[in-house]
Amino acid sequence: EKCRILVCGGGNGAHCLSALAASKDNLDVHVLTLYQDEAERWAKHVENENMKLTITKQDGTQYDTFSKPSLITKDAAKAMSGVEIVFLVVPAFAHAQYFTAIAPHLQPNTLIVGLPGQAGFELQCRHIIGDKASSCTIAASESLPFACRIVEFGRHARILGLKDSLGMSALKGKACQLSFPVVETVQGILGEYPKLELLKNYIAINLMADANVHPPMMYGRWGNWDGKPLKEEPLFYQGVDDRQADLLSRVSEELLAAAKAIEQKRKDVDMSEVIHLFDWYKIHYPDQITDKSSLKMAMRTNKAYDGLVHPMVKTDEGYVPNFNYRYTSEDVPFGMVVMKGIADLAGVPTPAMDEILAWGQQKLGKEYIVGSKLIGKDIGLARAPQSFGMTSVDELFDI
Ligand code: NAD
Repeated sequence: EKCRILVCGGGNGAHCLSALAASKDNLDVHVLTLYQDEAERWAKHVENENMKLTITKQDGTQYDTFSKPSLITKDAAKAMSGVEIVFLVVPAFAHAQYFTAIAPHLQPNTLIVGLPGQAGFELQCRHIIGDKASSCTIAASESLPFACRIVEFGRHARILGLKDSLGMSALKGKACQLSFPVVETVQGILGEYPKLELLKNYIAINLMADANVHPPMMYGRWGNWDGKPLKEEPLFYQGVDDRQADLLSRVSEELLAAAKAIEQKRKDVDMSEVIHLFDWYKIHYPDQITDKSSLKMAMRTNKAYDGLVHPMVKTDEGYVPNFNYRYTSEDVPFGMVVMKGIADLAGVPTPAMDEILAWGQQKLGKEYIVGSKLIGKDIGLARAPQSFGMTSVDELFDI
């Protein structure tokens, strides 16, 4: 009997995951997309033909698969019928509406996977699905497993490259009894790559998200900007200066202090995956970094970052920074605000994060933080524990 999975979303990742999974004999794929008329358009395209998925393998060779989901709909009840695993493959700002849509139809022992999750995924999911969280398992990957693009909507998508490895956390509700193992099953759906690694706990991953890098980098570069357009787009990583490196380092120390405080409060929780950003770079880019003498030099000399520039908008006068790019629009509410919130529950002061958030929220026209407290009027739009009324470290882990 086939295992039925649901893919939520209609973008690049949703196209690729649904076509990839549908190409496997043991899987039946449903798609739920709530955005505009995506479901209708996509369903029409595959009425009489399969979707084409072009995959570039690790060795650079390409192959095509031809397959299609058995159902593409915006009706959550139909989409959820008989589903054992739900994947959310949309940017973080779109997660909430999918949690809300699937909640009434969730059966016990369902696996919910954020692909990727991004900070606060589990907290928001638990809040929206309510009591049902204790009979489900909520997993999240650190990133999308592949770099991918839609070639032609509903018809053809392309996996440009698969990651070698990918971390995934799983938060099991106390009454949840999955009939299958989480990592092995998701691995079977993705195929050989990326190699999934089960991470120790989801809070550590929330603290280690990319969002601990992007907002400090943006604030460090643009916090004192004179407003004058630039002739060129400045390099993002290779342009790191002392002020940015210092901010990144201070944020890392605050996150490490939060991790230690959580371990003190909860002897059963292993936070060893939270490490300083400098160590993280040395571990993840051992061969690409030519100067490992400091965090600043490691970032400036990392070949993996060659030529990456700041998010900028071109105007008649020159380039100006884009403060609505995901480095702020996503990585503040679904990133640093979550980290700050976890640190608050752990009782750890976070002056560096507070300063960055005060600036970032102003650029976004939002208020999450007031002074050093997450009591701003828009905190409900972010995904900190405080956005969902949580007040203790225990609540993070006891589900
Ligand atoms: P995408 O940009 O293709 O997602 C667009 C889809 O999101 C739309 O088709 C729609 O289904 C939904 N959506 C957009 N606006 C919406 C709205 N206002 N309301 C509701 N739904 C809306 O995203 P993607 O490329 O599939 O990436 C998914 C996630 O993975 C993102 O967080 C992205 O940063 C991350 N990621 C993507 C890649 C990649 O190569 N595509 C690589 C690494 C990480």
